[in-house]
Amino acid sequence: MKTWKKFAHVDAKTAEEAAAILKSGRAALIAGGTDLLGTLRFEILPTHPETVVNLKADPFLDYIKEYGGALRIGALTRLEDIARSALVKERYAALGEAAHRTATPHIREMGTIGGNICQLPRCWYFRTPDNRFNCVRKGGGQCFAMSGDNRYHSIFGAVKSCLAVNPGDLAPALVALDAKIHTNRRTIEAERFWDVAFPGSTVLADDEIVMEVQVPAPPEGAKSAFLKFAVRKSIDFPVVNCAALVDKAGGTARICLNAVHGKPYRAARAEAAAADALKGNSTAEEAAEAAGAAAVAEARALPGDRNKWKIQIARTLAKRAVLACLR
Ligand SMILES: Cc1cc2nc3c(=O)[nH]c(=O)nc-3n(C[C@H](O)[C@H](O)[C@H](O)COP(=O)(O)OP(=O)(O)OC[C@H]3O[C@@H](n4cnc5c(N)ncnc54)[C@H](O)[C@@H]3O)c2cc1C
Repeated sequence: MKTWKKFAHVDAKTAEEAAAILKSGRAALIAGGTDLLGTLRFEILPTHPETVVNLKADPFLDYIKEYGGALRIGALTRLEDIARSALVKERYAALGEAAHRTATPHIREMGTIGGNICQLPRCWYFRTPDNRFNCVRKGGGQCFAMSGDNRYHSIFGAVKSCLAVNPGDLAPALVALDAKIHTNRRTIEAERFWDVAFPGSTVLADDEIVMEVQVPAPPEGAKSAFLKFAVRKSIDFPVVNCAALVDKAGGTARICLNAVHGKPYRAARAEAAAADALKGNSTAEEAAEAAGAAAVAEARALPGDRNKWKIQIARTLAKRAVLACLR
């Protein structure tokens, strides 16, 4: 039986205290621990933290409220609280549904919004215990998915030679809803939050901490939706997911796919196609169909076509997400 590598555990009373410990460079932040503890237990990374800094002792990072024209969710808010919030379900439906469709009730009771948007990729080469595949994402020389089993990997190309996808369910909802991520240092647009060299990475500095997620209130009459395709109905990551926000009266749409690329994929062509259709005389079905086709216009299966099935799923989810917003 494998034993855990040792690390110190520190309860930080405030985010400032946590950031000071993280600055040492050999520490990792823990919120719900549903992702981090698996990576430590199975030693999937080449390095191991000396200290795990527990943020949960900070009582001021767990809230859902609406003011100043935006929904504000503290970084330590549990996914289940987001999924159950009447406010979120009514006005920010895509986010509520994304939280509801994440993992299982147990994980949603532990997992937080901050941890969800900072989780590491699920690529099976990357996640193999004991760092057996020291892949390019970990600083090694190659992406094993290039020639290996890549049925769940990117349909929009590699990011720095890595084909892993961003596996988060909340990410596309936050991008579609034009959210902002507020840290202990700055405010980052959700769309830019994963804009980095490697899949599943964020733009956060080592000692930077997510404090709050802010979602602007959608325009009056606009509707949002989130859809997910997974192999199993529960306890499963997305094969593909999609969130949309459609303002029918204003003739605009924001559409984001995830689990299809190293970072959430904002489907700009689909947004333009939906907007054109909304401004013309198209039916809801025609607008949705056009958006679905445009969403995957630039998608390509990897050599061998093992992940080709994801293209059709992405197309269908984008279509259905737009349709759900127009009904
Ligand atoms: C069986 C299983 C199924 C799952 N299914 C899904 C799924 O369907 N969809 C999905 O999206 N996810 C899924 N997850 C992934 C993940 O557990 C959840 O997304 C959860 O929300 C992570 O939150 P956490 O608070 O537990 O994060 P932690 O494990 O505590 O942290 C995860 C990462 O985020 C960092 N972090 C945490 N909080 C902050 C913060 N405030 N600021 C900066 N960095 C921070 C940590 O340092 C760590 O690197 C699943 C996990 C498991 C084990």
